[in-house]
Amino acid sequence: MLSENNLPQQSPEQPWHSVNAFGIRELLEATAPLSGEEAVARLDVYGPNRLPEGKANGPLARLTRQLRNVLIYVLLTAAAITGALGHWVDAGVIMAVVVIQTLVGFIQEGKAEQALSAIGHMLAPKARVVREDGQHQINAADLVPGDTVLLEPGDRVPADTRLEKCHNLKIEEAILTGESVAVEKSPEPVEKEAALGDQTSMAFSGTMVSTGTGRGVVVRTGAATEIGRISGLLARTTSLKTPLVEKMDRFAKILSIIIVIAAAAVFAGGLVFSDLSFQELFMAVVGLTVAAIPEGLPAILTITLAIGVRQMAKRQAVVRRMPVLESLGAVSVICSDKTGTLTRNEMVVTTAVVGRQRMDISGEGYELEGAVYQGSHPVDVTVLLVDLARAAGLCNDAHLDFREKQPRIQGDPMEAALKVFAHKAAFDIEGSAHDWPRRDEIPFDTQTRFMATLNHDHHGHSMVYVKGAPERILDMCEAEVTENGGTSALERYWWDQIITDLASDGLRVLALARKPVSRDTTDLAVEDLDTGVELLGLVGLLDPPRQEAIRAIFDCHTAGIQVKMITGDHALTAGAIARKLGLRNSERVLTGKDLDGLSAEALQQLATEVDVFARTSPEHKLRLVEALQAQHGVVAMTGDGVNDAPALKRADVGIAMGVKGSEAAREASSVVLLDDNFASIVAAVREGRTVYSNLKKGIAFLLPINGGESISLITALLLGLALPISPLQILWVNMVSAVVLAMTLAFEPPEPDVMKRPPLPREQSLLQGFLVWRVFFVSLLFLTGIFGAWFWAMHHYDDQNIARTLAVNTLVAMEVFYLFAVRYLDTPSITLRGVLGTPIVLLAVATIVILQLLFTYLPWFHNTFETSALSLEMLALACLAGVAVLVILEIETWIRRRLWPTRLNEIRKRQQKHM
Ligand code: ATP
Repeated sequence: MLSENNLPQQSPEQPWHSVNAFGIRELLEATAPLSGEEAVARLDVYGPNRLPEGKANGPLARLTRQLRNVLIYVLLTAAAITGALGHWVDAGVIMAVVVIQTLVGFIQEGKAEQALSAIGHMLAPKARVVREDGQHQINAADLVPGDTVLLEPGDRVPADTRLEKCHNLKIEEAILTGESVAVEKSPEPVEKEAALGDQTSMAFSGTMVSTGTGRGVVVRTGAATEIGRISGLLARTTSLKTPLVEKMDRFAKILSIIIVIAAAAVFAGGLVFSDLSFQELFMAVVGLTVAAIPEGLPAILTITLAIGVRQMAKRQAVVRRMPVLESLGAVSVICSDKTGTLTRNEMVVTTAVVGRQRMDISGEGYELEGAVYQGSHPVDVTVLLVDLARAAGLCNDAHLDFREKQPRIQGDPMEAALKVFAHKAAFDIEGSAHDWPRRDEIPFDTQTRFMATLNHDHHGHSMVYVKGAPERILDMCEAEVTENGGTSALERYWWDQIITDLASDGLRVLALARKPVSRDTTDLAVEDLDTGVELLGLVGLLDPPRQEAIRAIFDCHTAGIQVKMITGDHALTAGAIARKLGLRNSERVLTGKDLDGLSAEALQQLATEVDVFARTSPEHKLRLVEALQAQHGVVAMTGDGVNDAPALKRADVGIAMGVKGSEAAREASSVVLLDDNFASIVAAVREGRTVYSNLKKGIAFLLPINGGESISLITALLLGLALPISPLQILWVNMVSAVVLAMTLAFEPPEPDVMKRPPLPREQSLLQGFLVWRVFFVSLLFLTGIFGAWFWAMHHYDDQNIARTLAVNTLVAMEVFYLFAVRYLDTPSITLRGVLGTPIVLLAVATIVILQLLFTYLPWFHNTFETSALSLEMLALACLAGVAVLVILEIETWIRRRLWPTRLNEIRKRQQKHM
């Protein structure tokens, strides 16, 4: 049993780099890959492989931050002076508001932090390990010293690792050494005194693999790693802010300051020119200040974002950078990978071509049952077929776990499908590792599009097997293997023809080849494949489109979003799949080579016209993003490899694949898709549009309330009238009804036509045009309602308290009806759906009705807020004012849609021109 006593301590001083690799395994008692139980026991001893997190904002810090706010200063000052003037009740209410405001901010910020940390956990880094029972992908936090890890381009090294095997492995160690050039690694021990940058036999936690592959044993984890020693802390994720919210924060701050200055001026002017007493004037100015400051706004906006982030995470899209929430709503082009995103990435070999014979392979998915047929007859397994199957089985890094009925696959699904095919063609895939061990390899690279391995058997044969994109492999081959096992000159034309046939059917075509080498060959280099390579044959793999992607593409087209497929696959395969998916211009496919010959201007033109791009490399993705952006597109781009990082960074919305994507791609992107599914991108766009419109609704709802109230007070002061609503009553409206009602807008579901509208133009600013008009217009409506009610009550009852109570109730009723109007800014609100509301809206309205009844009829409120009971007639009047607001705004929307439908239409027309 393991204990702290018989395992070495994790010491940063231990010079693992200078010990030879085998010695290390002995020291770590890990001469063989660890078993699951051993790993768990070690985890107990060493603790999780995690850096201690940077301290979250403690509750106290969060609380004090709430107090640093202009509104709070204003309120505290007002409370102090009101108290000094002997208005204890008023001072008490103002203090209560301070407490409520602070608590709301405190809770809301806590919620936002929770949302962010939940996302942080969803994106926990992963590591590929080899354990006793094969390869696994695990959370990097579960790695222990002694574990065997595998490294690939784009991986962040998950723990300090002593390398045992490297193939062209280069690691970028800038975060540790500041050196930006990637360091070439090798398993050879280096001298004990070597500086960190020279410890080439080590891969350090947190550094990034830029090329090549490697395998090694974990020697230090968590805080004991080099990065743990340097920083000791994990950087925390971003805050819940977007450019719009930051703009609104700044707007609210500046507005508050202007209001305070204006209020002071009004106060001074009032002292000189008006007959109001000092106390009356002071209370009026306090009223004006709290009326005008949009106190609830920042909280509402942050909550809207937090809810948006949560909704997206539910739809498998995790937002890494908050500003993207706004760009998502404006996306006008989505550029997507094909394999796994638009297709299912559940591959099966359906066709093989050997000895110029086309054969069909039966069987479904990854099940092993199936055989090779020619027409309807099973084929006798020939030497050549076995050779093809051997190449498919050996030049392959996938693993099939046979312990369950349906084999579990580990690694690349395409390679797993090749293993299944090899089995069906009578190659012993389970015994292959033992019968044909691998001596060396050239890993698959998206640039070169092939992979090669050097294998030998135990009878003195050595063979290089190559597989890859057919045109690439055919270029390498001089000869083809014939049916009887001999070779003849390669007849390229015949093979090109059959590749065209297979790819036109939508199959992914791979060519397999071999090169016999002498038995003592131990290394494999790309140059070795310049001569002597013999073509074995082809395989065709079926990768059906995702049904949900077909639907999502249709939705995109309705929403005015162009969809482009950018794939590394063959042009004909890409075209055939594009047709199945319903992409618009699937007849025309541009290849990477075509793109290379284009000028920037020509590319801009073609990038909008063409929807399918094949045999592309990551650089082409970058050029395409730039070309589409130059055409005013807001571009979402998917990617998974390390080389995709520049395009992901450049795109307005960089989307990394959570399942097959590399850490480098995730870090460069602003959204990570947990299920790699195209439909999730479209769901995220829909959420993005919803968040954006909810932010707009929140602003459109809250600002007119402040506007209406402050214009009312200013009008009263200018006309020398009594205030129609007292400062405390304004606080009540702003802190209770306005906030409760506005909160519901954060939960507003998408409007039914949210994906039927064209995307917002990139340059769209929220506080322009329509919104400014709406705020102004509704402020005037509120002003009319407040004064109308006050005058009416004064005229009939001549009682200040009754008049003010009616004015407040009228304002709140108008807010309630305005809420229903604001839920549909561009479409009619008086519809069955609109009137029924949502459960949250109804709950909020019921709460407000109860609170208003208390406010109006409860004696405690009468004393505190100077209110008075109202007759039913008066309540009806208040409601009537609300109905009037709704009807007027409905007419306004109708007129607006008649008079200015052009903007939407223009955008739509522009979109259609490009489709
Ligand atoms: P997408 O970019 O849509 O995901 P893709 O998977 O076809 O498409 P790449 O991974 O760049 O794109 O692959 C490009 C080509 O390289 C493939 O069409 C195939 O011919 C070849 N290929 C892919 N994976 C391997 C592999 N593991 N071994 C050998 N060749 C491969």
